[in-house]
Amino acid sequence: MDNLIPVIGLEVHIELATASKMFCGCSANHFGEKPNIHVCPVCLGLPGALPYVNRKAVFDTIKFGLCFDCKINYLSKFDRKHYFYPDLPKGYQISQYDIPLCYQGKFRLKNGKEIKIRRVHLEEDTAKLLHMEESGQEITLLDFNRSGVPLMEMVTEPDFNDVSQISEFLKEVQLIVRYLGISSADMEKGSMRLEANISLKKKIDPSDFLPDYKVELKNINSFKFLEKAVSFEIGRQAELIKSGVEPIQETRGYNEKKGITFSQRTKEEAQDYRYFPEPDIPPLKFEKEEIELLKKDLPELPFQKRERYKELNLPEQYIEVLVSDVYMFSYFEEAVRLGNRFGISAKNIADLMVNKKLHNNFEQPAGMVRKIVQLMDRVYASSRDTKSAVLEVIKEEQKAVSDYKSGNVKVMGYLIGKVQKKLKGKGDINLVTRLLQENII
Ligand code: ADP
Ligand code: MG
Ligand code: ZN
Repeated sequence: MDNLIPVIGLEVHIELATASKMFCGCSANHFGEKPNIHVCPVCLGLPGALPYVNRKAVFDTIKFGLCFDCKINYLSKFDRKHYFYPDLPKGYQISQYDIPLCYQGKFRLKNGKEIKIRRVHLEEDTAKLLHMEESGQEITLLDFNRSGVPLMEMVTEPDFNDVSQISEFLKEVQLIVRYLGISSADMEKGSMRLEANISLKKKIDPSDFLPDYKVELKNINSFKFLEKAVSFEIGRQAELIKSGVEPIQETRGYNEKKGITFSQRTKEEAQDYRYFPEPDIPPLKFEKEEIELLKKDLPELPFQKRERYKELNLPEQYIEVLVSDVYMFSYFEEAVRLGNRFGISAKNIADLMVNKKLHNNFEQPAGMVRKIVQLMDRVYASSRDTKSAVLEVIKEEQKAVSDYKSGNVKVMGYLIGKVQKKLKGKGDINLVTRLLQENII
């Protein structure tokens, strides 16, 4: 292994959570539904049925591409990709071949390394095959609810060199999809699917040449299994190379129980997809302004949020917990906005959420903030007592007040001291200061 470097490129499929399918009006919701209820002539591939494009899926894909600094093809189109399989009723999949919606993007890993994104395109999902046994016979049933559901595919350049880089990248992809709200990107449910292409390169090879084989790992449905499968595969290829054999180009699956990869298809059986432009769908044309607008409307992305939270003085570990979950950070940000008025710091709120899981007790952030204020009042003087103490001090300390008004800000400390004395030291400094400032007019 010492003189070999893994070369890994990823293909990521994400099912978009649009209301309708990619090329017809059927519901795109197929998870846990009764089989074959969301079907029509288009997604059943009946002769003569005409597809029409799901606008939202197109713009969702462009938004996703923009998050990775992709260029956008202002003129794009769909193509037919032919192959024969029972889950593909038309005998071809509508996909994108030479002009994907997005191309040439990039992503920076935490260690500074840049991963190039080759393309992001849009296609349709296939029907679902259900293998089962009936009266001692193996049978296969077909569910067309998934047929024609919008599927976005991202392809990276082979720029990854180890498993941890892959995991970091994929977790961030999943997070960005969730920030955009375009899919649940749930691997267990199959709304995010991964393929890793793996080869090993000799370290002494200084060129940019890639090994002239690659092994494609398919059908992996969790981050954990992907890490295991890729590690196993790297080891397997290293063994072969060490014994003087070049690994063959093939598609391999992963056996979760045995923890090994196994051959599914070799190069000799490689497909010729006979791509050609989809004649039933006109090309897509975008205006520059339209794309600029999408770019401007992108939400704050995870890396931007991390930066902003750092400025709130949150510890690294809190930031990661909050930023990794859309529900958590939305709740947190609302609580910070509300808590601000009561002098509750962002760090205080983050602490109560991350360590004490206080948010679990309150459906709304407002409820949690109310609770925090109550808890503070128990330690501190109540806000009502604080206010009356402040008003009394302002009345009694006319000289200091007028000094303050004429610009001597240092007397603020003296006034705070007077208020604290009345409150027996139980005043919340932030609140006392703010009330003094507000009431000296
Ligand atoms: P194919 O024609 O088989 O689809 P591509 O060149 O289009 O192959 O690449 C598909 C995926 O394989 C991409 O993610 C790419 O980064 C990756 N890839 C290409 N060559 C290699 C290689 N030698 N080793 C590892 N991954 C590779
Ligand atoms: Mg492939
Ligand atoms: Zn349909």
